[in-house]
Amino acid sequence: MERTLVLIKPDGVQRGLVGEILGRFERRGLHLVGLKLLAVDRARAERHYAEHRERPFFEAVIEFISSSPVVAMVWEGPSVTALVRSMMGPTNPAGAAPGTIRGDFGVDIGQNVIHGSDSPGRAEEEIGLFFSSEELVSWERAGTSWIYP
Ligand code: UDP
Ligand code: MG
Repeated sequence: MERTLVLIKPDGVQRGLVGEILGRFERRGLHLVGLKLLAVDRARAERHYAEHRERPFFEAVIEFISSSPVVAMVWEGPSVTALVRSMMGPTNPAGAAPGTIRGDFGVDIGQNVIHGSDSPGRAEEEIGLFFSSEELVSWERAGTSWIYP
């Protein structure tokens, strides 16, 4: 079963949006297998955003993600990476529809509340960057068979 990494970014944690965002994924029917609050240091931030190293916003995004704690989560489900990305909305909240997380809570492209892996392959790498295998829990949630077979 596919897994994906979600980070509630420092702005989402500081604004008290953790429960709201986590609840949306729970209510959608996704399966939570990892969850923690952590401070992201510069080294981990640089690895996480390595694909953007040459972009003009790189320094700003590194500073932002390491400025205050994040909540890291691993969610499991069919096509979970694409499903989470659609619930997040596009990178720039200005173009994000109401009903998406960025469309409901974001205004700024930098402070856009949430990160989600952009492909199943990247998800595996990002999960490895934030969680050890002992921190990921395989468990049966009552009722999952009424959400997907
Ligand atoms: N970002 C930014 N300015 C830009 C593009 C991206 O500040 O012009 C930040 C933004 O916080 C974004 C992150 O860099 O979430 C990573 O960019 P990416 O294109 O991977 O967007 P995402 O996958 O988060 O939608
Ligand atoms: Mg991205």
